[in-house]
Amino acid sequence: MPNTIAKINPENGKHLVLVVEDEEINREILAEILSGEYDVICAENSLEALEKIETNASFLSLIMLDLNMPGMHGFELLKILQDDSTLARIPVIVTTSEEQAEVESLRLGATDFITKPYVPEVIRARARRYIELAEDRTIIQSTERDVLTGLYYKEYFFHYAEQYDQYHPNVATDAVVTDIIHFHMINERYGKAFGDLVLKRVAETVRGIVSQSGGIVCRRDADTFLVYCPHRDDYEELVEKCSVDVRDDFGNEAHIRLRMGVYANAEKDIDIERRFDRAKKAADMMRGSFSNNLTFYNNDLHKKELYNERLLEDVYDALREKQFIVYYQPKFDITGDAPVLTSAEALIRWKHPSLGMISPGVFIPLFEENGLIQKLDDYVWREAAAQIRAWKDAFGISVPVSVNVSRVDMYDPLLVETICAIVEENGLTSADYMLEVTESAYSDDSAQLIRTVKRLRELGFRIEMDDFGSGYSSLNMLASLPCDILKLDMKFIQNTDNHVNGARMLKLMIDISKYLNMPVVAEGVETDKQLHLLKELGCDIVQGYFFSKPVPPQEFERFIRERIEQC
Ligand code: C2E
Ligand code: MG
Ligand code: MG
Repeated sequence: MPNTIAKINPENGKHLVLVVEDEEINREILAEILSGEYDVICAENSLEALEKIETNASFLSLIMLDLNMPGMHGFELLKILQDDSTLARIPVIVTTSEEQAEVESLRLGATDFITKPYVPEVIRARARRYIELAEDRTIIQSTERDVLTGLYYKEYFFHYAEQYDQYHPNVATDAVVTDIIHFHMINERYGKAFGDLVLKRVAETVRGIVSQSGGIVCRRDADTFLVYCPHRDDYEELVEKCSVDVRDDFGNEAHIRLRMGVYANAEKDIDIERRFDRAKKAADMMRGSFSNNLTFYNNDLHKKELYNERLLEDVYDALREKQFIVYYQPKFDITGDAPVLTSAEALIRWKHPSLGMISPGVFIPLFEENGLIQKLDDYVWREAAAQIRAWKDAFGISVPVSVNVSRVDMYDPLLVETICAIVEENGLTSADYMLEVTESAYSDDSAQLIRTVKRLRELGFRIEMDDFGSGYSSLNMLASLPCDILKLDMKFIQNTDNHVNGARMLKLMIDISKYLNMPVVAEGVETDKQLHLLKELGCDIVQGYFFSKPVPPQEFERFIRERIEQC
């Protein structure tokens, strides 16, 4: 298929037209009518025509085709053109004196039908129109489809899905989101070229199956595909069949498996994109599971969606009315004989007037999706700074507090200025204020993030890498990442209770941080046994329910008093 959309002769700016006509006189008349505006070539019969079409396929703009010719009939030629996806794009105007052949010509893919005798203006006007239309169609097709897979882009896909609904308002339809389990690993292990082949094969397979029932498919991004199709009940077989078909091509060792999130019988009065959000929510339920490959949007997810919508609606009032409260959880240094309070972590809670106390695990991920998190974090950072100030004034000592910094915050170009201003406004120094950045943010490996962390450290702020070990940071990466303290993911501590290798794993993590010369914080310490093990393994600082849950500031003061008494 030619890439150029306007197929003109660069030397004279003319399109190429082929006249296929066995009668010399007619051939000459047509050539004469068209030659002012077009480059014209002629063929006396279908076979000669086919040869010329194939040779000039990439820049032939129009075919004028007679039907009754010796040898191959014009219909035969039309059929051949229609069956070839490249040649089928060339518009064909059938020219004949047989008026009854019109329907059959159009059925075989002809663009239009003109009867003899010829009227020059009509011929030229139609030729112009069909060439333009064909070029417009090529432009549309080149922008509506993903280059790699040939599937629709998301925007066109949504548009066609809406059109489908307009024409079939009573047909029950399903919105499906499908992706390849651990595609990034396939890419990493076998290379991008192989990954591309897999994507193409998946696209072909899914399209092949769903287009049989009138469904449409798009590639949303990377390895995620969207399907909109008349309702079906066989998703279990469908997802399995797609995986097996693709594996047949690439072999079992590549472990290619699809999974699907299905919003079946999607409500038609909600926005099309939202229908796919629901399918995506179902798909997200399978995150982290390798065995599960099909989930439906159900009532529980629907309730959760409504609940989340409510939270999003209420958040502005909540900020204004100070419904968000900051709790503090103490961290203790356990390197000496008795644990000593070293600092605290600020953790937000939402005291909702009708929904009660809401944990950050519920609303933080929600606000991270839409940028609201920045507002919330800014609020917490200010509250925490004011609290450190108040404790300094009341007790005469500094209790450094660490605040959580979301991944989104890390990309705010004003982050460093904001933090410095907050610290300064409260008469604090960078030693009073610490920042917790989750490990998964580091795995973006973004130059901007690393620059921001470096600048903050240069200004004296200590950075803790939160939930270390929960994400993807490889040991390699760790050596070059800027941070001061490693905060181990809770599962390392909790796994020591019932996993044989849990304690060994924990030791390994602590040894790594020692090797890197970084203090380790263990969070989620709930028992005396865990505390002893951590002490034995050389952990520096602990945080957990064993000492205290996160508490309101007044309750926290008891730890400050104890600390003062220890001195
Ligand atoms: P995180 O930063 O890793 O915070 C530690 C979480 O572990 C807190 O949950 C804390 O209450 C909980 N935890 C502490 N000790 C124990 C223990 O011994 N056992 C168990 N099972 N859990 C323990 P919380 O307060 O529900 O916060 C959850 C997550 O929400 C936090 O994880 C953090 O990622 C996020 N978060 C909390 N507050 C903020 C905030 O102000 N801003 C941002 N961006 N995220 C926040
Ligand atoms: Mg934290
Ligand atoms: Mg943590």
